[in-house]
Amino acid sequence: MGKHAKASPSKLKQILGCTASLDAEAGFPDEESTYAAEGTALHAMAEHLIKKHLKICTRRPNSDYYTDENLEAVDEYVSAVCEAVGEAHKVCRDPMFDVEHRVDLSTYVGDCFGTADMVIVTDTKVHIFDLKMGQGIPVYAEDNPQLMAYGLGILSEVEMLYPIETVELTIVQPRLQSYSTWEIGVEELKAWGRDVFVPKVAEALEHRGSFHPGTETCRFCKARFQCRARAEFFLEVARLEFRQPELLTDEEMADVLLKADALKKWVEEVYAYAQNEAVENHKEWPGFKIVRGKSNRKYTDEDAVSEAAKAAGFEDIYKMALIGITEMERLMGKKKFSEILGGLVYKPEGKLVLVPETDRREAYKHDTAREDFAE
Ligand code: SF4
Repeated sequence: MGKHAKASPSKLKQILGCTASLDAEAGFPDEESTYAAEGTALHAMAEHLIKKHLKICTRRPNSDYYTDENLEAVDEYVSAVCEAVGEAHKVCRDPMFDVEHRVDLSTYVGDCFGTADMVIVTDTKVHIFDLKMGQGIPVYAEDNPQLMAYGLGILSEVEMLYPIETVELTIVQPRLQSYSTWEIGVEELKAWGRDVFVPKVAEALEHRGSFHPGTETCRFCKARFQCRARAEFFLEVARLEFRQPELLTDEEMADVLLKADALKKWVEEVYAYAQNEAVENHKEWPGFKIVRGKSNRKYTDEDAVSEAAKAAGFEDIYKMALIGITEMERLMGKKKFSEILGGLVYKPEGKLVLVPETDRREAYKHDTAREDFAE
């Protein structure tokens, strides 16, 4: 794997939001994550399977991350890509396909390059696929700066050969059953490149950036635990100033709800960071100390416990429990599971929760007639 770009497209959401963040992160080490290693292994498998489909010479990679569940997720992404490959053949006599395509953006701004997971070019369209293995927050294709930057880079490579009109961006996040796709016209994409991407990234790379904290912007910033601008942003959130009268208005309540979640997460993050520093790196924080937490008794050897208990005449020492649905499905395989147990499994309705309007799930409509009747 080559060196990392300073302004990597995968960090663009952060860099465009807070142009000072590149400099702020400079003194912090890279964060190691098992998720990153897993992501790399799963992308390698996806690459292998797509190349196989395209009849390109490839060797199956190996990894401990290739569990049934992970391979099923990769298959979902690969199927989406293969379907698009089939469509491309239908509309174009000579489409171009490239897996793990290196996108160089240095003609726009220095030290900016990345890898697009899959690129399909037909006569009038560039289609870029991105596989996201995260299972926390869904990532959407619309206005996604990482994929828009890839779009710009690929456009500059192919527009002499193909009269490209649109760029389609697709993010597949199989673990969240999320498939998000969005199209942007070439002129609109170039305008974004000219008016947003180039000036903001240049500002960041040329040390002219300014701090603009935000819940989304700071999410993966290496400076996030100690960044003063971010701390001030959250402390400002905590200093809610309410006007008279005594009771909060509906709007003020909604404002508290909107900010409380972000504030809670920030406090938890800062706490986890400080605790890790104290435990792992022996950092001392004024007014704090390390203690041992509460622990529960454990058997040293379960077989020996069983033998000793039985020898003493205690027979009723085991509990039997049904294995969970996911484990059962893995045991039987999807098809058999559905044949044997399909009629014995149901999905209860999720608990009603209050979320911001920006959440993409469909709003629940109260069934007032039924509720009236229930009363
Ligand atoms: S934590 Fe947020 S505000 Fe601070 S440097 Fe990083 S992105 Fe900018």
